[in-house]
Amino acid sequence: MTDSERLDLSSASSAYRRRRCTGSENLIRQLRKRGLLKEIPPGADAISGTASHAGWAGQDVQLDATQEQTVQTLKHLETLVVTDWCAGQSNDIFVLGREVRLWLRQGIEPLHSGQYDCAYVSKDWRRALILDAKTLYGEVDPAEHNDQLRELVALFRFNYPQITHYTVAILAPNQLERVSIATYDMLEAELALRLLRLSLLETADPDAVRTPGRHCDHCPALNNCEEARQLIGHTHSLAKRIEAGQYTLPLGEKGARILQEIDTVKKVLKSLQEAYKRELAADPDCLPGWHLKNGKRIRQIDDIKRALELWSAQRLDIADFLSATEISISKLEAAFGNAIGARGKRLTDSFNTSFAEVITLKEYAPELERDRKPKTLPAS
Ligand code: SF4
Repeated sequence: MTDSERLDLSSASSAYRRRRCTGSENLIRQLRKRGLLKEIPPGADAISGTASHAGWAGQDVQLDATQEQTVQTLKHLETLVVTDWCAGQSNDIFVLGREVRLWLRQGIEPLHSGQYDCAYVSKDWRRALILDAKTLYGEVDPAEHNDQLRELVALFRFNYPQITHYTVAILAPNQLERVSIATYDMLEAELALRLLRLSLLETADPDAVRTPGRHCDHCPALNNCEEARQLIGHTHSLAKRIEAGQYTLPLGEKGARILQEIDTVKKVLKSLQEAYKRELAADPDCLPGWHLKNGKRIRQIDDIKRALELWSAQRLDIADFLSATEISISKLEAAFGNAIGARGKRLTDSFNTSFAEVITLKEYAPELERDRKPKTLPAS
């Protein structure tokens, strides 16, 4: 697998993984050189995120109702953030670009790149606003310590040295915290650029170590990484010892680390399973005793209006029909929002008030979740 867009070089989108596993780039490079880096097809979430990004960038793409809602919210958040950033003086700013890749170079040789979603610049070229959309539901590091945004600032510093002040904003329509903002002055931007250069040096070191963790999730080398596989064996033997009563369930810092390792191992196993599925699809005889069976086929009705017409044509009771339907609250709320011209919190409040009589809460069993706030450093 080659990456012609990034010229097979590292990019800002992998900053999070690179900082936590400095050896990952070497492995990716080696696998690519040996033709062993296989393309992992994007999942449904990634495809949906790409469509929403394209819609927000103004491209003519087909969007479903959820993606359309995401794009509308992104446009709304963009307007709010930009208005606040330019203090209402929209004549003093302009859009620098959308979906533009910036390069860090040594002379003319490209070293690294990063693509920003959208950027505005003041007409005097002193201030820049970089917007990054996170359209999915997963965890996102806030702008203040987001590795990808820090590298984008570094790339801006390299390409537009006249800019002295940067604002970076994450727009996340499907998160609880929908906007997260951080600022960099010129010195901080310069530091970000130096950190980027240092990261590139460290990751090029042949002895750079590979350290598995939750960053393995999106690592293209995951299915070929010995360290990630060893983690499976380690976690499995630990589980066996605890099961046999030879080891008490560790709590505290150690317990938290083990819980994280379990999370990583689950992802590694899932990724390996998917890789085997792809191999079987390409060669049904490659894994003795295994084959790909067809996925389940479940009957579904998308056109509820027509189904009701067919039901009524049989002179059946509408109450019986309705008892078999289930309402998607998010879709109904979106349609309600379109009808009354409301969005965001105002829409949710208005929807909850209007339908309070029929809304009930279904509560699931508690789930494990990592704390999102960074740990506070011990007092010195
Ligand atoms: S799979 Fe994890 S440990 Fe292995 S190279 Fe990738 S990020 Fe590093």
